[in-house]
This record gives sequence, structure tokens and C-alpha cells, in this order.
Amino acid sequence: MKIYNTLTGKLEEFLPIKKNSVSMYVCGPTVYNYIHIGNARPLIFFDTVRRYFEYKGYAVNFVQNFTDIDDKMIDKANEEGVSVKEIASRYIEEYFKDTSRLNIKEEGMLRPKATENISEMIELVKSLIDNGHAYEIDGDVYFDIKSYKDYGKLSHQKVDELINGARVEVNDKKRSPLDFTLWKKSKENEPKWDSPWGEGRPGWHIECSAMSGKYLGSEFDIHGGGQDLIFPHHENEIAQSVCANGSGFAKYWMHNGYINIKGEKMSKSKNNFFLLREILEKYSGNILRFFMLSSHYRKPIEFSEDELIMASNGLARVQNTLQRLDDIKFDIKSISNKECTAYTEFVKEYETCKSKFDSSMDDDFNTAMAIGAIFELVKALNIYIDTTSEENRDISILKDVEIYIKNIFEEVLGVKLIEEKQGNNGLTVELIDFLVQLRWEEKQNKNWALADKIRNKLTEMGINIKDQKDKTTWNM
Ligand SMILES: [Zn+2]
Repeated sequence: MKIYNTLTGKLEEFLPIKKNSVSMYVCGPTVYNYIHIGNARPLIFFDTVRRYFEYKGYAVNFVQNFTDIDDKMIDKANEEGVSVKEIASRYIEEYFKDTSRLNIKEEGMLRPKATENISEMIELVKSLIDNGHAYEIDGDVYFDIKSYKDYGKLSHQKVDELINGARVEVNDKKRSPLDFTLWKKSKENEPKWDSPWGEGRPGWHIECSAMSGKYLGSEFDIHGGGQDLIFPHHENEIAQSVCANGSGFAKYWMHNGYINIKGEKMSKSKNNFFLLREILEKYSGNILRFFMLSSHYRKPIEFSEDELIMASNGLARVQNTLQRLDDIKFDIKSISNKECTAYTEFVKEYETCKSKFDSSMDDDFNTAMAIGAIFELVKALNIYIDTTSEENRDISILKDVEIYIKNIFEEVLGVKLIEEKQGNNGLTVELIDFLVQLRWEEKQNKNWALADKIRNKLTEMGINIKDQKDKTTWNM
């Protein structure tokens, strides 16, 4: 298996530190607001990485933190006149409300909170001061970047150039403008913890170094996050952890690409973002998940409703084919026919698609190619069904392929093939059935305008309508 390592800028063979096991740390959200769809991408992708490792037989230790103390948290609390703790617990709850619809595997995942690991952070800062990599000025502690010769190695930048480009703050007490805060003296009415440097709170970067070290050890396999975290966050994590522990820290650094809207990076600062919950009002988490996995994780995703509808249609193709299989099994009891050419060709295609799925995933988690292989399989399956009569079909291979496709979608990609057909758009199955039937009748009466109106509204709500000879079916 190969992974693109941001650290080396190369595709590298994945060699776990401990045989048959993978330790992963992925930076989690700062819980001061609802998450947007840019935040959802790493959640979906790294959950899929975890699932694929498990499918391959690895035991995975997956850690994703919550940053529940930070400047943004304090600003939000002040804005609303409530405590930072209240902001944190509110948005952690909202986070789970949103992400529970993305089918993220929570089982066995560790989700530490920064505020529950303050003593570990203080210990780390202490060792950095002892090792000569950090210094204290008036209750603030800074990392001395000049003390670490490899600073800039993750983002492939030279320290001198970084220093020249750094913003020098007024009244800056730091030795270098690039030195970053490890511990910050608290202002009045800010959350604070006792430390050897007085009352204060941790800097953002030290939180992840402390939590990854505590839960995965000073060396672990994979550190992940969005590309926007490479610098300075992950660069600083490396500096802190390597200098405090004298060891290697994360072996492989994986970063997912941005989400673009009309060619521009989606971001809160540009105000061109969608909240995850806004999208989930119209489309199911399942469709969003499938849409995100249909692109390679390192490439930007162009986000639009058209693309979501396309993903939804693609997923419906798979769902419809499985429905065909279901119908067939009701029709015939058990027939074994391995003699015909259609069977031989289908088995060949089945084997090719299976190995293509694995080799694509083994090639730096190329989910786009892997999904492509499954679509080829679905196509071959339809051909096999179309070109064989009921007496000529082999039921055992159909059952086998059905189990395979379901397992790949639901367990590895985390995309459910049978969705709970309610909740996401606020409509119940009965109501959708009624609207679909109503449209069918209007169509029969040649009342096209109303029929189209109903169809468009349902499509907008993430419901796909498919007209057949004598009926209309739908899925979400
Ligand atoms: Zn982090």
C-alpha cells in the first residue's frame, strides 16, 4: 500500500510501526460554531481511510480531538456573554448532530478534549524549556524556532524566507517573529489553569502535540488533516513533539484538498461557505459522503448542487441494480449454471473489478478510481442479467456479488445503500409516495406543468424519480 507523504513529497510504501496495526491522529474541530462542508471533507475521508485499513485486517487506533480552548472560543464566548465551557458543550453537541448523518464510525474512536489534557500540555512545555527550545517572557511561553534546524520541513519552506515574510507585531517580545505561543498568560475573565509560569492557557498547536503523544505515543503512523493545517499548525506540532521527545513523531502526513465554490476556495473568511447542516437539509449525508469520495482526496472538489445530483444519480444506479438482484431472487429458487459464456465473462469482470478496487485504494486511497471499478462491476452485472435467461443464470455468483458490493459500500466507503427514507428532508415515506403518485397521475392526464413542478421540487429535496413503463419509482 502506498501513501503520499506530505513530509517527503513522495508516494511511499506504508510500513506500520507495529505490525498489523495503524495509529492515526486527525485534527478535529475548534468548537465555536457549526461546521461547514469544508470541515466535513477530512471527517469523511479519514473515516474511509480507517475503514479501509480495517477491511485489510489492521487494528486501527484513531484519535480525533476537540479544540475547546482557543482564541476563537474566547471571542465567541465574550460575544455572547457566556462561558467558554458553554460554547464548547453546545457546539460539540451540534457537531454530533451534524456528523451523525455522515455515517462516521464512532466505535473505538478516541475524541479527547483539549481542556481535559492541560497537565500533559504543561509537561510538554516544561520539557521544551528544559531542552532549550522554548522561553518564557512575563507569563507567556514561546517556542524558539531557531533552535530547531528542521523547522519548515513539512511545508517545504526555508526558515529565513519564513522569517522575512512573517508579520512583526507591535510590542513583540518574541526573539523571532516566527516563534509561536506554547502557553499564554490569561487576561481577566478568561479561562485559566495554574502553571509554573502563572495562570494561563495553552496555545493551539501544543494541544495536538500533547493529545497525540498521550493517546498514540511519541511516534505513530499517520497524522492527517486539511491542507490548510500544514502551515503553521502541523509544522509547529512537529517542532514541539520532536524537540520535546527527541523522537520522530508521525511517520506519514496526509492532507486533504480544499472545497471550491465556483473555482474559489471555500472559506469562512471569504464568506463563500455552506454549513454542513444547510446542505443536509436538501441532500442526505449519504449522498454528500458519496460525492466527496468520488474525487481524489488530495485534489480540490468543485462543490455545486449539479455535482451533488450527479452523485445522487450514480448512487441510485447501484441501488437500482441491487434492487434488480433482489427481484430476481424472489423469482427463482436456486439455479447453478456455470457453463455459459456470459457467466465466464462476468466472473472474469468480477475478479478484475475486485482487484482494481483494492489496487486503487492501495494507491494512496484513490477512492475515485475505486468507485469507478465498482461502477464497472455494476455495469457488468447488468449485462449478465440482461443477456441471460432465468434458467441460465447462476444464483450463487449473484448472491456473492451482492454481498461484495454491499460490503464495499457500507463497510469500506461508509455509504449506505439502503437509506432510512425519512428525516433528512423532513418528508416521510408516505408523503413522498403520495407526491410521486400524484405526479404520475398528473402525467397520465397530460398535465405536464404540474407534473414537472412536483418532480423538480422533489429533485431539489434529494429525491430521484425514475419513470418506468407503467410506474414511477424513487430513491434518495
Ligand atoms: Zn491539530
